[in-house]
Amino acid sequence: MNSYYDVIIVGGGPGGSACAIELSAIGLSVLVLEKAAYPRDKICGDALSADVINQLQKLKVNLMPPFLNLAEAMPSFGVRFYSPSGEALDVPFTEKKSGHAPGYIITRNDFDAFLASEVKKCKEVEVLENMEVEHIHYHSEGYDIKCKKQIFHSRFLVGADGAHSIVKRHLMPEKLDRKHHCAGVRVYYENISDMHPGQFIELHFYKELMPGYFWIFPLPGNKANVGLGILSDTVSKKKINLSKLFIELIEGHPNLKSRFHKARPLETPKGYGLPLGSKKRKLSGDSFILIGDAAGLIDPFTGEGIGNAIRSGRIAAKWIIKAFEMRKFDAGFIENYDREVYDKMWTELRISRQLQNLLKYPWLFNLVVRKAGKNDALRALLSSMLTELDLKKELIRPSFYLKLLFGNSILARK
Ligand SMILES: Cc1cc2nc3c(=O)[nH]c(=O)nc-3n(C[C@H](O)[C@H](O)[C@H](O)COP(=O)(O)OP(=O)(O)OC[C@H]3O[C@@H](n4cnc5c(N)ncnc54)[C@H](O)[C@@H]3O)c2cc1C
Repeated sequence: MNSYYDVIIVGGGPGGSACAIELSAIGLSVLVLEKAAYPRDKICGDALSADVINQLQKLKVNLMPPFLNLAEAMPSFGVRFYSPSGEALDVPFTEKKSGHAPGYIITRNDFDAFLASEVKKCKEVEVLENMEVEHIHYHSEGYDIKCKKQIFHSRFLVGADGAHSIVKRHLMPEKLDRKHHCAGVRVYYENISDMHPGQFIELHFYKELMPGYFWIFPLPGNKANVGLGILSDTVSKKKINLSKLFIELIEGHPNLKSRFHKARPLETPKGYGLPLGSKKRKLSGDSFILIGDAAGLIDPFTGEGIGNAIRSGRIAAKWIIKAFEMRKFDAGFIENYDREVYDKMWTELRISRQLQNLLKYPWLFNLVVRKAGKNDALRALLSSMLTELDLKKELIRPSFYLKLLFGNSILARK
């Protein structure tokens, strides 16, 4: 087995796989080191937003056609929001004439195995499973990357190894900042009653979780991904036991109790961290780049990170290719990657951070849901806001809520 590569990518989740695809067949030798063997679980809500679908199509190999053949992917057509007061509001996703659903839910077991199978078809890319990176050493020629029984060497290194990234811990350690981190638990269930007929995902914004939410995302075979996420700062201050709170909600909350009466959990609650993109971080250094969760790019309002993992994998590949073309591997040059990531993502991350802050005022959420329940134009506007950034900006303007409080006519004009 070869042990020297131009680029080594640590981690074969969505970010690492996207980066590997983009780096394939351009004359660079690329190795993906993945600690697990596919198919492997990853604790997640399993929801693929329109943004993820968009990113799949933008990859060098358009992954949408093979993705649409996957029977394991459940198409989804909207969101059902539950306000803190318990009222429900259906907001369909805006459908484009694309021949596929606006969103999907698919277990990460299946989705990541699909991505990896596509990576394995790529020229000049090797994938090694069951290969956990344990130590990283940087020197003037690049990196020595130590796994249990083998050492690999590379000129360039990509940290795509998720929320507990060993690459980040070795090359850019950062103390956990609980204000910019979320804790989540997930349980797969079967037989939950009264699931939405249009396979809408459900987001339940209850007071005890804010700024965070409880979710139910439908999966094929009458199964569902159920979970909750809360800001780690709140978890720590209020000493919340997430698994206990999860069970208390499904056994006691009036919106959930009867629906879970005949439901069967398929596992015990499983927890994992979400590094939120609500603050800017340094994302690169001499001959290395962090992408996806290792870079902390999860949307602080929705908790979605798959789209930004793929997007950052694509941007990383672009700058790695330039670095090899120009033989420039120093931190000053590689920092162009950080700049492009934040140029492309910061506006949305900042808006999401402000929306997350608004969740401190549950009455605002109640107001929006109550008004939108009676107003088709407002519902249509909210639907567009889910995908259109310029419209989403409205949601963080006080004038939006003043209009809701004092007059529907202005919203009807939108
Ligand atoms: C509870 C929860 C719910 C979520 N729900 C959603 C959702 O519904 N939709 C959404 O878009 N996002 C969601 N997210 C966020 C999403 O899971 C992440 O943003 C996404 O997985 C990031 O992709 P990644 O490729 O950066 O990292 P990961 O998907 O974490 O992949 C990292 C890979 O690196 C491997 N690895 C780790 N350490 C090593 C090592 N030392 N050596 C070799 N390999 C290693 C891992 O095995 C893994 O395969 C959720 C997250 C959580 C925790």
